[in-house]
Amino acid sequence: MKGKLYVVATPIGNLDDITYRAINVLNQVDLIAAEDTRHTLKLLNHFNISKPLISYYKETERIKASGIIEEIKNGKNVAIVSDAGTPGISDPGEVLIKQAISENIEVIPIPGACAAISALICSGMNTSEFLFIGFLSAKAKERNEKIESIKNETRTLIFYEAPHKIVDTLQSMLKVLGDRNIVIGREITKIHEEFIRGKISDVLDNLEIKGEMVIIVEGSEKSEKQIEIENRNKMSLQEHYDFYEKQGYDKKEIIKLIAKDRGTNKNEIYKQFT
Ligand code: SAM
Repeated sequence: MKGKLYVVATPIGNLDDITYRAINVLNQVDLIAAEDTRHTLKLLNHFNISKPLISYYKETERIKASGIIEEIKNGKNVAIVSDAGTPGISDPGEVLIKQAISENIEVIPIPGACAAISALICSGMNTSEFLFIGFLSAKAKERNEKIESIKNETRTLIFYEAPHKIVDTLQSMLKVLGDRNIVIGREITKIHEEFIRGKISDVLDNLEIKGEMVIIVEGSEKSEKQIEIENRNKMSLQEHYDFYEKQGYDKKEIIKLIAKDRGTNKNEIYKQFT
């Protein structure tokens, strides 16, 4: 009989954040696939868990995944863990999980800490809709292009960042997004945990560039659609008409669309074109 694959979240700092279920599963599986075996060994030692470990990091994910799948097909239960938090979230996991699913292996989540969600829930920003981006590129051009592509996103934005890149990233955000409200969740669940809130420019002035950080950025006040409508309304009536005509609409439809964009009565618009 095939074994199962358990995707086990581990703490992001405070070891008390491990769940009972995570401990039970790590104690019961036959093998633990770890991003960094030395790192995971410290965690296992802390909880008196002794299990065979196999290293499994992003660069070797594809090669190692096939071996792990074979073990599961031979009846072994395997847990995958990353260095901290939830596997697969800016961490290895996705490749193995996809392969397991394609082999009809049962994949079981063992939920727990995740830096992105921990920062979001204490950000004080809109938590009902959010977009997780993870790490931005270290290259300024790619980073700016990515930020530009989500500039008009109204959902709350979540980024991961390393301390040596935080200033460059915040400067890119300031340049592309303007001086938005942000929250930096620093060293979450650790002794020096703090949430730094303010405009990007204030945070840049007051940031201690140390430790692990999540950046939460307030979504845009205006959606892409609203901005598009505003730009259309800056056109003259004739330009607005031509804009829709080029898209193949007939006169009746165009008048209806212009009236909707401009929040006016369609008879008023109709009068201008007779
Ligand atoms: N899989 C992990 C998770 O579920 O959160 C994230 C792994 S990713 C390689 C590491 C990044 O997560 C760090 O660079 C930082 O942005 C963020 N992070 C991890 N632990 C953190 C903590 N205790 N406080 C703030 N940010 C943290």
